[in-house]
Amino acid sequence: MTSHIAFIGLGNMGGPMAQNLLKHDYKVTVFDLNEEAVKLLTDQGAQAATSAVTAAQQADVVVTMLPNGDIVKSLYIGDKGLIQAANNKTLLIDCSTIAAEDARAVNAAAKAAGIGMIDAPVSGGTAAAEAGTLTFICGGDTADYEAAQPVLSAMGKNIFHAGEAGAGQVAKICNNMLLAIHMIGTSEALNMGVAQGLDPAVMSDIMKASSGNNWSLQVYNPYPGVMPNVPASRGYQGGFMVELMNKDLGLAQKLAAQSKAATPLGALSAQLYQIHQNQGGNGLDFSSILQFLQSKQ
Ligand code: NAD
Repeated sequence: MTSHIAFIGLGNMGGPMAQNLLKHDYKVTVFDLNEEAVKLLTDQGAQAATSAVTAAQQADVVVTMLPNGDIVKSLYIGDKGLIQAANNKTLLIDCSTIAAEDARAVNAAAKAAGIGMIDAPVSGGTAAAEAGTLTFICGGDTADYEAAQPVLSAMGKNIFHAGEAGAGQVAKICNNMLLAIHMIGTSEALNMGVAQGLDPAVMSDIMKASSGNNWSLQVYNPYPGVMPNVPASRGYQGGFMVELMNKDLGLAQKLAAQSKAATPLGALSAQLYQIHQNQGGNGLDFSSILQFLQSKQ
């Protein structure tokens, strides 16, 4: 069994993912620019490193969970990067959501250095990160995908091999475009029903048992007070931030242009989330799109 994991990026997702590795008795060395995030993990038994590279030098497996592709590339590639710090027995796993072309570039740099790497973006949100039930959507060589199984299964329930390097990111971006579309649709339907005097909880139960049923209704209801333990019921704090959804919708539009795929609802979702971010949605969970719709009534 792998004994030592370096975990870099301890935010809303990375923090609970690293905690699950500790629960599975892995030795975990952590690094984040945010000292409070580091402290949460060291309080639970993780060791703190002074830099990402220092953490990686001691590890058999490096897991990163970072905001975007520029940060991922700058941490991995270059003379002072994680690839340089790793040895040829280290396995690199990037769980961040980034452009497929960025994932391919980092994977190629790792391969050139003789180091195994997979892209393994996740789906499921912070609740699944906490519960250890994430879905991992992987891209990379089969041997590296297989080597990652024990570590990924300590943090997730469903693990898919989508294809070669970057394929995990392609599948993830397609999924998140659909997530934005059904979150907006769910919010529109709930908001309209409530405007007609209906109870949002009753509306939700009806739609969950009807043809409008979807993941947003099942586990991430955007209407405040309908569901406990979701961002909508705590002022849209925590969860998956509007700016991260905007990043994903931007990646989806780039992918659509590259593929010559028609994605009119994806394009409209990108516009709506961008306006929402500009008009006060920054820093809120993405289900706050319901609040944005209410503000236009
Ligand atoms: P977050 O902003 O909460 O956390 C990112 C963490 O990375 C922060 O703690 C930040 O300090 C740290 N960081 C940034 N630059 C760093 C650097 N150079 N070195 C070390 N640490 C650095 O974001 P999150 O919600 O945890 O999301 C992380 C990734 O997971 C993103 O790519 C996001 O798109 C993806 N994702 C998020 C969710 C969700 O529900 N939040 C779901 C699926 C996927």
